[in-house]
Amino acid sequence: MTRRAVHVGGVMIGGGAPVTVQSMTNTDTRDVDATVAQINRLHAAGCEIVRVAVPDQQAAAALPEIKQRISIPLVADIHFSHRLALAAIAAGVDKLRLNPGNITDPDKIGAVVEAAKAAGIPIRVGANSGSLAPEFRGPHGEATAEGMVQSALREVRILEEHDFRDIVISLKATDVPMTLTAYHMIVHEVDYPLHVGITEAGTPWEGAIRSAVGLGILLDEGIGDTMRVSLTGDPVEEVRVAYAILRALGLRTRGITYRVCPTCGRTEIDLLKVATAVQAALVDVSAPITVAMMGCVVNGVGEASEADVGLVGGAHVGTIYVRGEIAQRNVPEDHLADAMITAVRALAAEVGDD
Ligand code: SF4
Repeated sequence: MTRRAVHVGGVMIGGGAPVTVQSMTNTDTRDVDATVAQINRLHAAGCEIVRVAVPDQQAAAALPEIKQRISIPLVADIHFSHRLALAAIAAGVDKLRLNPGNITDPDKIGAVVEAAKAAGIPIRVGANSGSLAPEFRGPHGEATAEGMVQSALREVRILEEHDFRDIVISLKATDVPMTLTAYHMIVHEVDYPLHVGITEAGTPWEGAIRSAVGLGILLDEGIGDTMRVSLTGDPVEEVRVAYAILRALGLRTRGITYRVCPTCGRTEIDLLKVATAVQAALVDVSAPITVAMMGCVVNGVGEASEADVGLVGGAHVGTIYVRGEIAQRNVPEDHLADAMITAVRALAAEVGDD
C-alpha cells in the first residue's frame, strides 16, 4: 500500500518519495555551537533530517538558535514532558519524536497534539524494545514483536482521537528478526509512513552489518520510508552506512559506489593501501559515480572500464580508466592514490551532486 505522505520541513516522507536518511546528534543539545557544527557535518555527509535530544528546558531553549543556524529539518526527541514538547513546537522544530504513552495525562497529550497541528508538524511515535511498557511485554517481561506493534498502535490511536494524522511510526528492536516481524505486522495495519532502524545496533563494524541485514531486508521488501542507522560514535558514520545500504539496493545514488577486488597471488601493488587512501580522501564526494580498483588485468579491465573511474594494477604500476577509456598508463604505485583522487574529483565536478 502507498504510504501516506508526511512533510518534515521541506522533506517528504512516504507518498512514494525516495527513502530519506536521518541521523541524531550525540552532542549536548544545550551546547549550541557543538550541536550546530555536528549537524552541519551530518548535512554535508547527506543527512536529510536530524534529531536532537531535548531532555530539559535548557535544551529546549537552545532549539531556536540551532534551528536558525542549520538548513535541514530539525526533529526534537522528547520523553515524559509535555512542557518540553510544547517548548520545542514553539521553538519552530519541524517534527516531534514523542511517546504519548509516557505522557499519561490526556489533557497534556491533547495540548501537545493541538499545538503540533497548529504548527503543521508531524509526530513520530513508536516502540523501542528497550522502553516497552510492562503491559506490552511477554509473560517473562520480554519484548515481543506483537507487543511493540500493539504499543505503537496505542500511541497512534491516541493521536487519531485528536484527529491528528501527520504520523510516522517506528518499531525498533535490537533483535533483527523481531524488528522484521514487527514491521511485517504493522505494514498491513495502518498507512502511515514507516521510519525503519535497528536500535542500539552497536559500534560501527557490528552495527553496520546488523543494520545492513535488517534494513536491507525491509527496504528490499518496500518497507521503510525513512531510515536511521544507529551506531555508537560519530553520527556521520550512520549517514555513510545508510547511503551504502540504499546504494546497494539501488534505492538512492548519492556518493561513490566502490568495487575493489579482494587481491590474490597475482596482485603486484598494495591495493589495500591505495584503496584505503582513495576512499578516505573522497568521503565528501556526493556525485553518484562508480569507482573500481582492481589488482590485475584478470577481472580488472572489465570492471575498470565499466566503472566511471577505474584502476587496474600491474607490476608496481597501474592503468587508470575514465569512462571506459584509458586515461593514464603505467602510473607508479606511489602515485596511484593521488592520480585516482584527482581523476575522481574531476569527474565528480563534471557529474555534479546527486
Ligand atoms: S582482479 Fe586480479 S588481483 Fe584482483 S582478485 Fe582478481 S585475479 Fe586477483
